[in-house]
Amino acid sequence: MAKALALYSGGLDSILAILVMLKQGIPVTAITFLTGFGCYQAESFREAGRTAAQRHGFDLITRDITPQFLDIVRQPRFGYGKNMNPCLDCKILMLREARNLLAEVGADFVITGEVLFQRPMSQRRDTLPVLDRESELKGRVLRPLSAKLMNPTIPERDGMVDREQLYAFHGRSRKPQIALAREFGLDEYPQPAGGCLLTDPIYSLRLRQLLRECPDASREEISLLRIGRHFRLPSGATVIVGRDARDNAELGAMIPRGAPRFFVEGYGSPLASVIGTPDEEAMQAAAALTARYSAARKKAIVTVTCVAGPVRRTIEVAPATDEMIELLRR
Ligand code: SF4
Repeated sequence: MAKALALYSGGLDSILAILVMLKQGIPVTAITFLTGFGCYQAESFREAGRTAAQRHGFDLITRDITPQFLDIVRQPRFGYGKNMNPCLDCKILMLREARNLLAEVGADFVITGEVLFQRPMSQRRDTLPVLDRESELKGRVLRPLSAKLMNPTIPERDGMVDREQLYAFHGRSRKPQIALAREFGLDEYPQPAGGCLLTDPIYSLRLRQLLRECPDASREEISLLRIGRHFRLPSGATVIVGRDARDNAELGAMIPRGAPRFFVEGYGSPLASVIGTPDEEAMQAAAALTARYSAARKKAIVTVTCVAGPVRRTIEVAPATDEMIELLRR
């Protein structure tokens, strides 16, 4: 019996593509790729995926492709979208990884929830064949929601899939998908949110600056970009200051080993750190920014503690002024 391997993002289109296959009696294994930038990094999103898999009867696996993904974010062959999103390279990477998994899961072809013309860059009629060719999956990527607008794929030609039961959705309207979801009795599904951090303009600006200054920035340094207030120093180093308890906790867990941690003892205080090699000027600036966002901000001089690995020191500093904040904030 034929089997499909589905690229599963957790969004409505990807679950519909799976349900269209299951309706034809074709078993499905769904793969979710973790890239470090997607919303399915969140445990709640993964839990929703597991629930959907159980409810509808398909297998769900995940693979972490963060290292390969970082390579294309740094240097996409097909360029970026509106922000730092390398959508074409991203889709090619995911299809390639899926191709490598076909034998492992015993699948004959790949399905995706892509809808023709839904997105300007990666879902055009002329780009979809590029994705298939570059991933060496030519003829073996079926897009059940738009298949009737495309040439028949190998699984359709070989009779594994009934083309008549596929769809001809196209464009940005979500109405056909919502109607199909209703037919399948799907009452709950994630809204089409920009789940990918790389489509966020502020995050993209931070990432672009970091990669310009530090092309070999580590996975941890890149992850830190989504947390806290960011200040860029003339040396190129970045100071990150937690905005609230949640930021502080996340930051605390993610600061690379040996990197400095700043805080004001005895007062309500943010946690702060520096990405990049901190010289003394950066240490002073980080201390001043930490003092500024602490409960001691009204004092003329604040004692800021800095812990870097086994080394603990204190820095006496005046809290950062409005001008400093304005100058360094990004
Ligand atoms: S938005 Fe992000 S996850 Fe989606 S295709 Fe583009 S780069 Fe990949």
